Amino acid sequence: MLPTIARVALPVPLDKYFDYTISNEGIPVVGGRVVVPFGRQFLVGIVIELTDNTEVEQQYLKAISQVLDQSPVWPKKLYELLSWCSQYYLHPLGDTFNNALPGALRKKRAAQLATLKQWRLTELGREQLMLPFGRAVKQAKVMKMLESGPIEHQTFVDAEIGASVLKALQDKGWIVSQDIKSNAKPWPQSVESDQEKPVLNQEQAIAIATVNSAQGFGCYLLDGVTGSGKTEVYLNLITPVLNKGQQALVLVPEIGLTPQTIQRFASRFNVPIAVIHSGLNESERLNAWIAARDKSAGIVIGTRSAIFTPFHHLGIVIVDEEHDGSYKQQDTLRYHARDVAIMRAHKENIPIVLGSATPALETLQNALSGKYHHLQLTHRAGNVSSTSNQVLDIKGLYLESGLSAPLIAEMRRHLEKGNQVLLFLNRRGFSPALMCHECGWLAECSRCDRYYTYYQNSREMCCHHCGSRKPVVHQCQSCGSSHVVTVGVGTEQLESQLSLLFPEYKAIRIDRDSTRKKGQLESALESIHKGEQQILIGTQMLAKGHHFPNVTLVALLDVDGALYSSDFRASERFAQLYTQVAGRAGRASKPGEVLLQTHHPEHTLLQGLLHGHYGQFATNVLNERKMAMLPPFAQLSLIRSEANNSELAERFLRQVRLTIESHPLFDNTCQVLGPTPSPITKRAGKSRWQMMLQTAERGLMQKILQSAKPVIQTLPESKKVRWSIDRDPQDLS
Ligand code: ADP
Ligand code: ZN
Ligand code: ZN
Repeated sequence: MLPTIARVALPVPLDKYFDYTISNEGIPVVGGRVVVPFGRQFLVGIVIELTDNTEVEQQYLKAISQVLDQSPVWPKKLYELLSWCSQYYLHPLGDTFNNALPGALRKKRAAQLATLKQWRLTELGREQLMLPFGRAVKQAKVMKMLESGPIEHQTFVDAEIGASVLKALQDKGWIVSQDIKSNAKPWPQSVESDQEKPVLNQEQAIAIATVNSAQGFGCYLLDGVTGSGKTEVYLNLITPVLNKGQQALVLVPEIGLTPQTIQRFASRFNVPIAVIHSGLNESERLNAWIAARDKSAGIVIGTRSAIFTPFHHLGIVIVDEEHDGSYKQQDTLRYHARDVAIMRAHKENIPIVLGSATPALETLQNALSGKYHHLQLTHRAGNVSSTSNQVLDIKGLYLESGLSAPLIAEMRRHLEKGNQVLLFLNRRGFSPALMCHECGWLAECSRCDRYYTYYQNSREMCCHHCGSRKPVVHQCQSCGSSHVVTVGVGTEQLESQLSLLFPEYKAIRIDRDSTRKKGQLESALESIHKGEQQILIGTQMLAKGHHFPNVTLVALLDVDGALYSSDFRASERFAQLYTQVAGRAGRASKPGEVLLQTHHPEHTLLQGLLHGHYGQFATNVLNERKMAMLPPFAQLSLIRSEANNSELAERFLRQVRLTIESHPLFDNTCQVLGPTPSPITKRAGKSRWQMMLQTAERGLMQKILQSAKPVIQTLPESKKVRWSIDRDPQDLS
């Protein structure tokens, strides 16, 4: 008997599946995509089962309208991993699948290489280059861009050049388009290039041998100080994998994926490398995905979502800077790519290497307890010198846009020697608030309970929580005074102050505002490397993984906020940031110096970091966490609710609390904290509440949540609030 019914997981926020009849449009496969009618729309879903039985009455059954795939979208183990993600993160399977699909496959596109369209100049077009263009500015721009060779269509889209401009030029016969299939090259005979490799030091050699000598699954923490040669270890681990005809997946933090990173892999290996990140357009992303699946790529380097890439034969997973916050997705499927990567390696029975100079405490604890292998690189590799670290007590000192006189003097000393200086300030904009000097009123976003950040260059106020923008206020909305002043210092202000203090040196600012457009970060990093600027101003974006050989002074301008935060992870994050930032100094043959401005030089965290090292700090904090029953010694899940009506959001969580506490497995090893208002009590007009569930054990957390969730879904309030469960939450705001 042929099955007549396909059970389909759809990208909807419901924990259920939908049955459709199999029509003469074709027989679907389990794990393949189909298009089905859903309400008034058509959705792309994944078939999870073919069957004869359905509980849906005949008259309500609809038919599949299109079968998109003749074979499953994912290999079996990846499909299983996604089912695991759906269960572990308590997220509907259909939407979990949707999260893992490249954008093009969420639509009806075929799971085959996309053709990329290219434009180039014709002979006639080349002749035009000599002549003046008149008023057609955009057309002139296109012609100029094409002068040096063919350009992909998407590049013009990114440059905000409309199709009409291209069409006009095409009609004149000056440019033509051409479709090209992906540029996949066959796998070469020799996987490594003949580039010269450094002689490994003993610790590197031991690390490599340990991973290589093992069989099957194993999780390795490569715990190595900044610049100790972790990347060199990755490269050496990938070679034998490629030689066996297998592939490698390298996950990097969002900001770590720079041309330098890719270049290091590309110059070492002859195999094609696919790069996956959020800046790709749909076709590029699809092609990278397919290159991995069909083994035309040997290595995939990608950010968080690359963990869901299918491979022909995956041989190793590497997670660089495994402590990085960007591995956790903060909405929809709230997964942690490092944790999913470990699960994936386990299912595929292959090794996984987690690299960091500042491992997450969860990871470190697993290494200390022997669950992971602990590999250590304790020295900086190659020709690097050490750094000196000092705190600068700024109590009572006058600060010029956040800079104390001793720091300014120190900067001058380094700059005069022809070196670069890196200033670290984790606050974007000109100032974090605007205040009335007469009455103290502060300009506040009307949709969030947060102050507006002031941007002087654009004369705007922007809310960093909901993204709303407004023209700057010139008058107090409370007393009418026109004496409105800025409060605090952001990177934009620092930048303009520096041009006054150091007119003879050039400064460059790197933060999310200055690198919003595609390619901006890359070109900024490139110009820093060329030495075009001497002073680098950055938020935490600059702290990660970049090598700046000429930076000899790194200063952290304002760290006090991190010392007194209510978030139990704040000290861990600060220690990571500090260690990473400090690692930017003294990379080449020049000795480095790290200065830390603070009002609390005696703070134990600072003293610990200055005199000990990250490992020492981590051990202390792990002891504290153990006594407080916090992760990694306990399991946490954060349940959030949001509604226009604050009381409703709270009431819903109270009911959730009752549901959870009445669970038969809920015992005295479990605890519910809250509901309490979230630290950001209002965002984009919604009141926010949260509640923490804590259990001693992972399995128990899973059982309780899994059986409580369906009950919660039947609560009438659950339909009126927006709520979510965040397993292993990172962001508690
Ligand atoms: P990490 O990834 O730990 O920050 P890298 O692998 O980038 O460190 O190494 C830092 C620098 O040291 C790089 O320039 C690298 O080429 C160099 N390096 C790494 N291992 C060695 C070695 N064994 N001998 C000499 N230089 C090395
Ligand atoms: Zn807002
Ligand atoms: Zn006022």
